[in-house]
Amino acid sequence: MLADDMEGRATRAIIDLDALASNIRILGASLSRDTGLMAVVKANGYGHGAVMVARTAVEAGATWLAVATVDEGAMLRQAGITVPILVLGPIDPSEARAAVAARLTIAIGGPDLLDPLRQASEACQHGPLSVHVKIDTGMRRYGVLPSEALALAQTIVDTPALRLTGVFTHFARADEADETPTRLQAERFDQTIAELRRAGIAAGLVHAANSAAALRSRAYDYDLVRAGIAIYGIPPSSDVPLLPGMRQVMTLRSRIRRVVRLLPGEGVSYGASYRARESECVGLVPIGYGDGYHRLLSNRAWMGIGGWRAPVAGRICMDQTLVRLPEGREICPGEEVVVFGAGEAGEPTLPELAGLAETIPYELATAVSSRVPRWFIRGGRIVAVENLSGLHEMT
Ligand SMILES: *Cc1c(COP(=O)(O)O)cnc(C)c1O
Repeated sequence: MLADDMEGRATRAIIDLDALASNIRILGASLSRDTGLMAVVKANGYGHGAVMVARTAVEAGATWLAVATVDEGAMLRQAGITVPILVLGPIDPSEARAAVAARLTIAIGGPDLLDPLRQASEACQHGPLSVHVKIDTGMRRYGVLPSEALALAQTIVDTPALRLTGVFTHFARADEADETPTRLQAERFDQTIAELRRAGIAAGLVHAANSAAALRSRAYDYDLVRAGIAIYGIPPSSDVPLLPGMRQVMTLRSRIRRVVRLLPGEGVSYGASYRARESECVGLVPIGYGDGYHRLLSNRAWMGIGGWRAPVAGRICMDQTLVRLPEGREICPGEEVVVFGAGEAGEPTLPELAGLAETIPYELATAVSSRVPRWFIRGGRIVAVENLSGLHEMT
């Protein structure tokens, strides 16, 4: 694929930053006129590499970023990212100082965080700490109940060390064919926002939609949408497709390291759970569950080799996997293998692989472990490589 592609470990995740930017532009252009895009880059940018994803997202028009933890937000600040960053998850009270120091915006889903955040904000003297109130309209995970939202928002407004800059909720079932549960949650949310406004509280930025809600309807746009999975070019579910032109950002590649000829009846890998029916060849691919290639895919998944489907043969090991090589084709060590990708070279897409692993593509993308180097491509060139020793940018 690339001229200088041969150096280093063959197993690598190729991150197409042009696809990421284009996905963000396509989604952004589909939103209501005054609706902005908050790019969700939690869990290392859904496994794609948070720093490069965040920078690209901001260049492509995202005005906010979202992470799940204080540490994730602080890491982005350290990398020089200055746009507002919302920490979606409940933080630990002991993280309040770190959150204030990194100038993160904190989601408050109950009164317990008020005191630690106020104290941390007063101690740091950075000015008031920006907070968003999270309202639980039906997900029953994190957030204040609608009946308690006004009191919480009022306390924040009355606390000089805190500034209310947003109010949001999260949908539990926006990726399902039936939109009714999502409409119900939005109704509760609208009522709560109206109640805050009647009490004279400026709610700041109002937001609700995740990728699925943003892809399917303009009814949930408000001031921002929080888009995660869609910007990586992965559909939220089989019921909610991407928009035309959006494409998968990550391709996981490797190379055949060794070819093994099996005698009829010989078993392969731990437990010999695959047996050769006749004399056949398997190829050793240096990727395993230690790289995030789930062991549940043993004897289920396939990899793409030159447009052919090469089925996984036997158990996936921690660092290696064997695949059955196509009959009648000479496959030599060094031949490129696509573990997952856009599906153009015979390989499975992430949604296809997720089906085989009895999970969702979110889990498979975030599972790609830190020892798999990320190769970032822009304009057909490698612009950065991230491996265990850090992020290395090509100048
Ligand atoms: C992860 C997350 C999102 C993004 O969800 P996608 O389905 O990936 O778009 C949005 N909001 C909250 C609160 C989240 O935790």
